Amino acid sequence: MRYDNHQRDHSRNDRAGFHNDRRPRRNRREETPQVAVEVGQRFPLTIKRMGINGEGIGYYKRMAVFVPGALTDEEAVVEVTSVAHRYLRAKVHRIRKAIPHRVEPRDSYADRVGGFELEHLAYPQQLQFKRDIVRQSLERYEPRGYQDYDVRPTLGMADPYGYRNKAQFQVRQADDGTVQAGLYAERSHDLVDLPTCSVQMPVTMTVMRALVQMLQDLQVPIYDEEHNSGIVKTLVVRAAANTDDVQVVFITNSQKLPHKHQLLLRMADELPQVTSIMQNVNPGKTSLIWGDTTLHLAGEETITEKLGGLAFKLSARAFLQLNPAQTEVLYNEARKALDLQEGMTVVDAYSGVGTIGLSLAGIAQEVRGMDVIPEAVADANANAALNGITNAHYEVGTAEDVLPQWAMDGFRPDAIVVDPPRTGLDQNLMDTILAVHPQKLVYISCNPSTLAKDLVELTEDYRVDYIQSVDMMPQTARCEAVVKLSQR
Ligand code: SAH
Repeated sequence: MRYDNHQRDHSRNDRAGFHNDRRPRRNRREETPQVAVEVGQRFPLTIKRMGINGEGIGYYKRMAVFVPGALTDEEAVVEVTSVAHRYLRAKVHRIRKAIPHRVEPRDSYADRVGGFELEHLAYPQQLQFKRDIVRQSLERYEPRGYQDYDVRPTLGMADPYGYRNKAQFQVRQADDGTVQAGLYAERSHDLVDLPTCSVQMPVTMTVMRALVQMLQDLQVPIYDEEHNSGIVKTLVVRAAANTDDVQVVFITNSQKLPHKHQLLLRMADELPQVTSIMQNVNPGKTSLIWGDTTLHLAGEETITEKLGGLAFKLSARAFLQLNPAQTEVLYNEARKALDLQEGMTVVDAYSGVGTIGLSLAGIAQEVRGMDVIPEAVADANANAALNGITNAHYEVGTAEDVLPQWAMDGFRPDAIVVDPPRTGLDQNLMDTILAVHPQKLVYISCNPSTLAKDLVELTEDYRVDYIQSVDMMPQTARCEAVVKLSQR
């Protein structure tokens, strides 16, 4: 989601999958396998463990085999889909022995598009998987004292479906003229139409499918990637869980949106739940979803979400966590871990629209935050004002530039919360944190690997009190965690 730019993980938004697939990449040097094996070959395999992307891992003649859709302790016949020097990828041909925790995915396309990696695994076991991923990452990087860390059970949802507040679907026209909206099949640009989606908030799908029907009825030109022709590329529907606001964004190949008037009339008539209609212009062939120009078509320019008793106005491209219910759980955990005392100064690094820092402003003497996305920072400052908060201030810039600057100007925060994208902390920021040496430090991570790696340096000066993972994305392999650190 860095996807819009502010999304935490650009790949998530910039590609049309729910997230990026980070399986090991093939590189040229690795093309000859250690053992003779060919694409298409089948063999039986016992799955020994789960990898970080939710795939099953087994061994064929000592080569690791990555098998999406297979679960630990299952026996499967697998078919090789690609061969590298040290590992193979394969797909399930047949499950010979399933484990009792295997369940039927609610989404028929779960094995074809990204973002549903664990939908065939019962939810309690999904939560165990996420805690294990944290442990596996620690074992790989071995930060100081890692064997003794208190890695707490993952906090999950009572109902792990229908949580996702935003649908960002690619739009294409099929050969028979029907309009489709969905996600790309993994590692391809083949669109998989998503008439239903179990993890989306129902209103996002209701609006999405109504829009698809309208585009088809009105024969609005749909973007054709091959010829770089047509207009509508992507539909974005974002709903606020706690206010019922709904925003629609048409992402288009040009400023011109044919039949706009009829489209807006029909939306007013059939989709009264939509409170904001915007258009974002992103011309030409590009792997980025969002363009630089955003136009206001009807209704409000922003939607408002309420979290932890505060109101947040969101412009079309502003980042907000995708799971509103679990966002409150995550922020509560962050607040608890930070354990701020009255009168302390705090930095909200990688602040997005200021959600974390503003929720701390009541107790803090001063909150400062920064983010690279100017619109997000503008929203953060506007949100401070909206909530009557006068002791919080957000700046545009990278955490690695802004924090050292503040430190040089003599601002030494008592507490720092970092919430970086999947790449983790920049070295310059790491050095500055260690130099500033805040009394309180909380690391919110959306990637256990970079977290474990960053902890290697942080634990030179800090002790890990505990790691609390929170399931922000049920049915996916994604894992979010809050780490409480204390000065040694
Ligand atoms: N804390 C926010 C946002 C987390 S997502 C929330 O909970 O909603 C991570 C944020 O980091 C994004 O808003 C992204 O724009 C921002 N970002 C990415 N690289 C950055 C950098 N080097 N410095 C500061 N912010 C950065």
